[in-house]
Amino acid sequence: MTRRIADLLRNGQPDESVKIQGWVRTKRELKEFAFVEVNDGSSLAGLQVVLNQDLPDYANVVKRLNTGASVAVSGVLVASPAKGQRIELKAETATVYGEADPQTYPLQKKRHSFEFLREIGHLRSRTNTLSAVFRVRNACANAIHQFFQEQGFLWIHTPIITASDAEGAGEMFAVTSFNLKDVPRTDAQEIDYSQDFFGKPAYLTVSGQLEAEVMAMAFSNVYTFGPTFRAENSNTSRHLAEFWMVEPEMAFCDLGGNMDLAEAFLKHLFKSVLETCPEDMEFFNQRIDNSVLATADNIINNQFERLTYTEAIALLEKADKTFEFPVKWGLDLQSEHERYLAEEVFKKPVIVTDYPTEIKAFYMRLNDDEKTVRAMDILAPKIGEIIGGSQREERLDVLQRRIQEQGLNPDDYWWYLDLRRYGTVPHAGFGLGFERLVQFMTGMGNIRDVIPFPRAPLTVEF
Ligand code: ATP
Ligand code: MN
Repeated sequence: MTRRIADLLRNGQPDESVKIQGWVRTKRELKEFAFVEVNDGSSLAGLQVVLNQDLPDYANVVKRLNTGASVAVSGVLVASPAKGQRIELKAETATVYGEADPQTYPLQKKRHSFEFLREIGHLRSRTNTLSAVFRVRNACANAIHQFFQEQGFLWIHTPIITASDAEGAGEMFAVTSFNLKDVPRTDAQEIDYSQDFFGKPAYLTVSGQLEAEVMAMAFSNVYTFGPTFRAENSNTSRHLAEFWMVEPEMAFCDLGGNMDLAEAFLKHLFKSVLETCPEDMEFFNQRIDNSVLATADNIINNQFERLTYTEAIALLEKADKTFEFPVKWGLDLQSEHERYLAEEVFKKPVIVTDYPTEIKAFYMRLNDDEKTVRAMDILAPKIGEIIGGSQREERLDVLQRRIQEQGLNPDDYWWYLDLRRYGTVPHAGFGLGFERLVQFMTGMGNIRDVIPFPRAPLTVEF
């Protein structure tokens, strides 16, 4: 049976007979033998394979085993005399599955820029950095499920196609089966959606929250973890057109409970990833951003700072620093403001609550002052907003008023309003951008390098 290389590096013992399969990272040829480092994606480090003249078809095999070639090797583990590795594999047989021509294979042993690697998205996961990112991403996804499952949350699947242009969280992609060269029109020359697949306009979802609220009103505590889409025409290092979002929703919960859960959640994720991917995290700290481990430590061991938007504005007004965007009560916080609070004032994650009513969505619970709502954003050093959430408005009359005030049509929200008609309860939830989290954890500068196949303006290859 084939063993994974991560398992052998950790548990393999001298004299064990094993078989491995993977891709060649490097080859060194000496007179009598050759060293080949094989990686199968299970760990940052590969396994050193020693091939010598006894190997059947030695010269031919070694000639074909260039960087990028795929191979199966059977042999015996031996204690390694080389520094930095405990064991190596003495090959008895080696089968080359596929060669990789050194003249054309783009991933020769040297540093490549992340921009270049994005152009070879089908091969970049074979590099140290990208493979470490995707192992951390996997560990983090697993930890997310583990956290919620242990606390009795139900994982629910909210729709990807939706008709509610909900809450205006972002620009939406339209979903249609129309032939775009010949779109049916009404007599008034408007697009006749009654003839479209769903009989009305449909979109890719920007958030599963409204549907999560439906499910929370039956199961108490639920979460979604799935893809969301925003047609943001902003080419930033923190925005994707397709990204994954984690959205818990809790019945019988207020903003305090929501903040407690979000903080415990982030602490759990960092702890868990440090435990499962210590080598990868060490790698990021050494090669990508030397504050990665300190940041993780900071998240795990410090209480997040909590303050209101009004207090945040007062701090920003006092700052001996000039911002590009204005600071004024009533205006939204910009990324530079968020980062100033998290990086310079508190030097740790900050939870800002009670934002002005005008700049937040209609479903957030109105405070008694009517000027602010029970919103919370968690701001992280370097990243800015990483979590956005709120206590939801559970009072039917207030919610109806807020929908109208925001110029929305209450008829579009009939089922959402029904939740307040029948068995309404205080409830709260938040959304965490999964890629932002992976970025934050690994120190990766560009969000396009923490998702295997990034979707962004003019970017849809692979
Ligand atoms: P931002 O101001 O950074 O654009 P937002 O206010 O639009 O964020 P929300 O609508 O609150 O964000 O979405 C919830 C979470 O989803 C955010 O906290 C963030 O982590 C993440 N997020 C939002 N937009 C994107 C995007 N385009 N790509 C990746 N993650 C995103
Ligand atoms: Mn946005």
